[in-house]
Amino acid sequence: MDTNRYFFKNGIRFECTRCGICCTGEPGTVYVNKEEVYKIAKYLNIEVDVLKENYLYPFRDSYSIKELENGDCIFFKDGCSIYPVRPMQCRTYPFWMMNLRNEKRWEQVKKECPGIGNGRIYTADEIIEIINNSPI
Ligand code: SF4
Repeated sequence: MDTNRYFFKNGIRFECTRCGICCTGEPGTVYVNKEEVYKIAKYLNIEVDVLKENYLYPFRDSYSIKELENGDCIFFKDGCSIYPVRPMQCRTYPFWMMNLRNEKRWEQVKKECPGIGNGRIYTADEIIEIINNSPI
């Protein structure tokens, strides 16, 4: 793939600091596919129906995660309480299409996420692959 036309053609350094900024605050949806629903239930050692009833709500062809009144993810308790089984949408942040659609938007995201600029360099090809794997 010719990635030279992307503003991130030289790659982007990123390592999550697990600060929780992207899991808290402003309300949003977090798409959880059906396989992820089962994985989260298993991880929490609860029935799938109990998970759906207490932590999820229907969204698109599957579910999204409930939030507290302040917009925080219901699973955010001094860090992500389902980190090993967190949904693909969370795993792929900040490399979402909506964040990388242009440099101006990316500059905004950089101000919100302290992990950007730290850690290893993700190549443009890797970033494109992550974008393609993200449900958002
Ligand atoms: S805002 Fe960035 S550094 Fe903080 S938890 Fe989210 S991805 Fe990690």
